[in-house]
Amino acid sequence: MRILVTGGAGFLGSHLCERLLSEGHDVLCVDNFFTGRKRNIAHLMSNPYFEVMRHDVTFPLYVEVDQIYNLACPASPVHYQHDPVQTTKTSVHGAINMLGLAKRLGARIFQASTSEVYGDPEVHPQPESYWGKVNPIGIRSCYDEGKRCAETLFFDYYRQHNLSIKVARIFNTYGPRMHPNDGRVVSNFVVQALRNEDITIYGEGQQTRSFCYSDDLIDGFVRLMNSPEELTGPVNLGNPNEFTILELAEKVIELTGSASKLIFKPLPEDDPKQRQPDISLATEKLDWAPSVELAEGLNKTIAYFDELLKTSDIY
Ligand code: NAD
Ligand code: UDP
Ligand code: UDP
Repeated sequence: MRILVTGGAGFLGSHLCERLLSEGHDVLCVDNFFTGRKRNIAHLMSNPYFEVMRHDVTFPLYVEVDQIYNLACPASPVHYQHDPVQTTKTSVHGAINMLGLAKRLGARIFQASTSEVYGDPEVHPQPESYWGKVNPIGIRSCYDEGKRCAETLFFDYYRQHNLSIKVARIFNTYGPRMHPNDGRVVSNFVVQALRNEDITIYGEGQQTRSFCYSDDLIDGFVRLMNSPEELTGPVNLGNPNEFTILELAEKVIELTGSASKLIFKPLPEDDPKQRQPDISLATEKLDWAPSVELAEGLNKTIAYFDELLKTSDIY
């Protein structure tokens, strides 16, 4: 198949392009390189079935493909809050353009949605049926509400235009090729530990997250995309093993053998207190569950950053 991956030069997008090429597909990677990097896809450039296009999805796109994975959107709070208006435009105008493209082509389209649609959840763990608790006017809203509106658009194109849609709600995912400077917790802690710098815990570190390794997640993407027509989602994809941020910091120090000390910084506004996916739907319908334990995934991530930090141009 000819498959379009928007945000294909990013952390998850690059792993997805690699996986689709390995299955023999023809892959078109579209990215504006806001947070994505050529380094992430350099090893794919010599493959004749791989093509890259610099393009911003807030503008219309006319190409011919059979499937579309829509991942374009900065994902870390530091990056999505850098230009919040552009973040909302990317989610909303980007979704409209990619849905318009899918409609013209009759192509199936996948949306990389997020656990952020649940906001600071009052239901724990979060099933897909939970509508969430989201601040519409806070500093995270450009991302949360943008992604919620994108989901709305997907379901309206499905109902109104009979489009074939697949919506995944992704929970915190980590792995090689995260941006070293994107401010997310796993990349921050690993880079700080490898440099023996202070590990920055926001708040008291008692907030929780559930961390999924990238390979597990990508497998879930492909299974959902190729699932029977009637499974539109939303489907939660993530690892249900939940840790406090303090536990994560201690684990990273242990695995790197770092001399770093923990320091405590203010908790950012609207930072969710807890998060854990209920993945029973993915398990039942996609026969999917993550298999990589935190220590194993962290070791691979540490190895990646260790190599990266030895190079002269890490960004
Ligand atoms: P990332 O920042 O590494 O990747 C996003 C990619 O989109 C980058 O390559 C960036 O340059 C590109 N992009 C941004 N705006 C664009 C635009 N207007 N036009 C074209 N390209 C644009 O982040 P990631 O972690 O790989 O996330 C990929 C997707 O998965 C995002 O949609 C994100 O919201 C979603 N997601 C990720 C996580 C996670 O934990 N990694 C969790 C939930 C949802
Ligand atoms: N669009 C696109 N590529 C296409 C078809 C449409 O980028 O191949 C964009 C176009 O900008 C359009 C949007 O998708 O505004 C929504 O398309 P749709 O057909 O749903 O609506 P309309 O064209 O009526 O606005
Ligand atoms: N966090 C932290 N130190 C850091 C970066 C993040 O304690 O250097 C915390 C952050 O406050 C949040 C959790 O780790 O509670 C996850 O943050 P991240 O930005 O990775 O993802 P999100 O908040 O979107 O789940």
